[in-house]
Amino acid sequence: MPKSYSDLLREARAAVPEIAPREANDRRAAGTLTIIDVREVEEWEQGFVPDALHIGRGYLEMNIEAFIPERDRPMALYCSSEIRSYFAARDLKAMGYQDVSVISGGFNAWKSAGLPWSMPVALTSEQKIRYSRHLLMPEVGAEGQAKLLGSKVLLIGAGGLGSSAALYLAAAGVGTIGIIDFDVVDLSNLQRQVIHANDRIGERKTESARRTINALNPDVNVLLHDEMLIAANVERVIAGYDVIVDGTDTFETRYLLNDAAIALRIPVVHASVFRFEGQLTAFVPYEGPCYRCLYPTPPPPEMAPGCSVAGVLGVVPGIMGLLQANEAIKLLLGIGDSLAGRLVLFDALDASFTELRLRRDPDCPVCSDAAVAARAAGTPLAVPAFGADAPFVLGGGLGAGAVAGGGA
Ligand SMILES: [Zn+2]
Repeated sequence: MPKSYSDLLREARAAVPEIAPREANDRRAAGTLTIIDVREVEEWEQGFVPDALHIGRGYLEMNIEAFIPERDRPMALYCSSEIRSYFAARDLKAMGYQDVSVISGGFNAWKSAGLPWSMPVALTSEQKIRYSRHLLMPEVGAEGQAKLLGSKVLLIGAGGLGSSAALYLAAAGVGTIGIIDFDVVDLSNLQRQVIHANDRIGERKTESARRTINALNPDVNVLLHDEMLIAANVERVIAGYDVIVDGTDTFETRYLLNDAAIALRIPVVHASVFRFEGQLTAFVPYEGPCYRCLYPTPPPPEMAPGCSVAGVLGVVPGIMGLLQANEAIKLLLGIGDSLAGRLVLFDALDASFTELRLRRDPDCPVCSDAAVAARAAGTPLAVPAFGADAPFVLGGGLGAGAVAGGGA
């Protein structure tokens, strides 16, 4: 016998428990209930329950398993009143979700009860199209996109690593990208530094990078630092950035950057390349080791051959720069597991990745508790100077093969 709409609704109501808005809010705040908004996008844009996952009714069965694989997670659904959520909850139960309820009275009752609700971040209609693939993923969504648009990332060097990192950070909508580089584009750069172009030879790399970035995405504000990173300017240059992407090719700059970034608590996504190899990690201040924890003593300059001496396969800095962009975006959004305390080694010839665990040095002159206290007291601990006579000692249990000297 055919069923009417009222029959279906009556059955759904009988099969699905309801939860009062206030109780749902308490459990949401305690982190014991996942709330799902099954309304249309236009309704969501008029306001929603904080932390709610938005999966429109039309896409619910299609997308729910990707977002909530566990069938026993407690969930409460809401729509504007409650009818659509009853049908949605019935279908989730049919998929094996065991603990699904409906917020009685829906979003209207929620607001009438004076419970907290949020307005989505306002993106322009052009931004909604440009970043639509980000907006589809709740891990990014409109709020994450707004976070990216409000973020500031500094690239040390507009070379091979910086080229691919900059292109994808710009495409992703990182709102401010700073670039420090004092060099000009050379014909020999173009084998890997894809942010530049043949007609830019002789042009400043910073300006060339800015042109490419803004041609790709005019949302990005590009800040140019046409200078060499030195002790006298490092704190001024890096201050105010949220994440630093290190594409430098000199040890001296890495130490300088490390010490200043640790003091200012700015994470540095580090990568370096050497012939067919690349390495990558994130120095997240006080969460994982810093560069000095791994390499306490700077090497003599002859142990740090750059690409101009050792050569590099052009795609290797491209790959490592992309991984840096990925890491920077994760840090900005606060998603995933950061590479703090992990070193990833890439071998282009085997197409293989290897991971090493890295530990903080409890006696590190820059990031140890004693070092922090000494800085606070205005008497920073002495650090080994670059080019000193002391032998270059690899720390962190790294083998000699991990000394990737060449930069971008
Ligand atoms: Zn350290």
